[in-house]
Amino acid sequence: MTNKVVLITGGSRGIGAATALQAATKGWDVVISYNNEHAAAHAVVSSIESLGRRAAAVQADVGSEEQIQCLFTLVDEQFGRLDALVINAGVVDKAQTVAEFSLQRLERMFRINTIGAFLCAREAVVRMSTSRGGQGGSIVNVSSIAARLGAPRQYVDYAASKGAMDVMTLGLAKEVAAEGIRVNAVRPGLIDTDIHASGGQPDRLVRLAPSVPMKRGGTPEEVANAIVWLMSDESPYTTGSLIEISGGNL
Ligand code: NAP
Repeated sequence: MTNKVVLITGGSRGIGAATALQAATKGWDVVISYNNEHAAAHAVVSSIESLGRRAAAVQADVGSEEQIQCLFTLVDEQFGRLDALVINAGVVDKAQTVAEFSLQRLERMFRINTIGAFLCAREAVVRMSTSRGGQGGSIVNVSSIAARLGAPRQYVDYAASKGAMDVMTLGLAKEVAAEGIRVNAVRPGLIDTDIHASGGQPDRLVRLAPSVPMKRGGTPEEVANAIVWLMSDESPYTTGSLIEISGGNL
């Protein structure tokens, strides 16, 4: 019997890379996508292969429908099955107020974080749905605690893009529950990855950690644990759930 296959968008770094490695240790074959960081993505693939699992890294901008379709086609051709999808690729932007937002900023944010998530979910549902001849599967969305908190004076657009993802999780979970597909989300809090620097705030974790009830940021591995559980057969009756992984930052 072939191993189960998971596709993780944005698997070159941070939470996606930790999820890829954790999934491989649990016996999954893993496809990761990335946007720019070719070397980091291929280092993740090498680590997975050294664990004895199959792996591939594919450059695919989730802001492009065409590139998303190519990504899923590659999974079809090279792996022949898709058992789980982790919709993890996401971006933040510079800290700004809503009054300062440009159209360009809003279009980029929603194209990558929201429309990209919907298009990836669509491609997975088409392949997994038992009513379409698939074997069922699991979709895990990587949302954010920002969807609860709103991220004022930081990035309300990012928070809103994740709020849309949460509602997609609830609606899609019900839409495909009878077709063998579970859909859940994790909502990480302050996690130690490069994303803060990419938003122009490299000190964000250190600065905000004291405001977290647990008084620390989380690790990508702590988020990966929950994602891999949601992907797996160990959570067979869990769908439509939004799980906070935020050290009590609610
Ligand atoms: P990260 O370290 O910045 O990694 C982001 C990943 O997404 C990278 O693999 C990156 O690829 C990929 N990516 C970015 N834009 C992409 C695009 N247009 N197309 C395809 N891939 C793209 O971020 P992270 O902290 O691990 O974040 C992962 C997810 O967790 C995001 O959805 C984020 O919103 C969410 N999250 C993070 C935190 C946190 O505190 N870190 C908290 C809550 C939620 P390249 O390496 O090629 O650039």
